[in-house]
Amino acid sequence: MVESVSILGSTGSIGRQTAAVAEHLGLRVAALTANRQTELLEQQARRFHPEFVAVYEESAANALKIALADTDVRVGSGMTGLLEAATLSSTDCVVTAVSGAVGLKPTLSAIREQKRIALANKETLVCAGEIVMREAEACGAEIIPVDSEHSAIFQCLSGRGEDPYRTGSRNPELKKILLTCSGGPFRGRQRSELHDITPAQAVRHPRWNMGAKISVDSATLMNKGLEFIEAMRLFAVDPDDITVLVHPQSVIHSMVELVDGTVIAQLGVPDMGLPIQYALTWPQRMPSMFDRLDFTSLGAMTFEAPDLVNFPCLQLAQDCARKGGTFGCVMNAANEEAVHLFLKEKLGFNQIYDVTAETVEALGADNADTLDVILDADSAARHFVHEKIGA
Ligand code: MG
Repeated sequence: MVESVSILGSTGSIGRQTAAVAEHLGLRVAALTANRQTELLEQQARRFHPEFVAVYEESAANALKIALADTDVRVGSGMTGLLEAATLSSTDCVVTAVSGAVGLKPTLSAIREQKRIALANKETLVCAGEIVMREAEACGAEIIPVDSEHSAIFQCLSGRGEDPYRTGSRNPELKKILLTCSGGPFRGRQRSELHDITPAQAVRHPRWNMGAKISVDSATLMNKGLEFIEAMRLFAVDPDDITVLVHPQSVIHSMVELVDGTVIAQLGVPDMGLPIQYALTWPQRMPSMFDRLDFTSLGAMTFEAPDLVNFPCLQLAQDCARKGGTFGCVMNAANEEAVHLFLKEKLGFNQIYDVTAETVEALGADNADTLDVILDADSAARHFVHEKIGA
């Protein structure tokens, strides 16, 4: 179990839950960062007494500096602030709960300082998974997934083959990953019925209460596509070793099929607090404050194949996973921009796929050897989307 945490993205959904879990476990909070929500960040700073806080937006950082002038909390800003929070000598675990590709650099810096990474930012592995996992291996840093599906897979593999099992190498007892998917709020609908979906409708997820970007990704099934690539990187498996399985009740958070045919599943209430806590206490388990599963009131658990025709983002992601190179990175960046434009009502729901697929087609490349190549591909994809939409 870790003793202190830095929470990058502490005002978001995962960040707030991480702060609550850290408090429950009695961990010291070393640093907190936010994009621009200074009011909540100030409240958190007063409650958790970190030594350092950072706000990504410069002007917001100045406001926070004034607000916290009566405390001894240092205030930073921008990418420099994020990097400092990720590498503080007094922290031994960095929870990467920022949304989007901005999480990449701080994650790499924390890895180089041998911090445990409680990884809640899937974009990092989708963009630069090979580089990140290679670096973690070379530096001896632990990468523990917070994403509920990947936490489930990690828990199913824990203690197998190697004890305790760590991410980054293929578990010798693993045959196949069964990645579960709720199907999102529009499961069963035709694509032609979805063109006038509004942001408010798309962010209303039936099972999980999450931030806006990930909720839209769940509605398009792009979230499962990103998780598909994330799983390949974390568990060092091929695309053919992962099967996506729609399980609308979200009780099973994912499963593994072992080499002898046995299937192990991880079950729990759909509460992100659980995987967050496990990432902090691993390889131990500690009592938690979460609800318990009640099997007698659970009813049926059902499973079906994903609908790749009406939700083509998942197919696109699987194709990009197979192609490798910068395809995943370009897809992720284009999707992120398209989702932001959709949330601002500048793009229709179905156009998220159209624009992302077009960007991948135009810009995807086979070579992704260095971080610079990846970062260039990321910004080229964002630029392409904005040019295309004229936004
Ligand atoms: Mg997930």
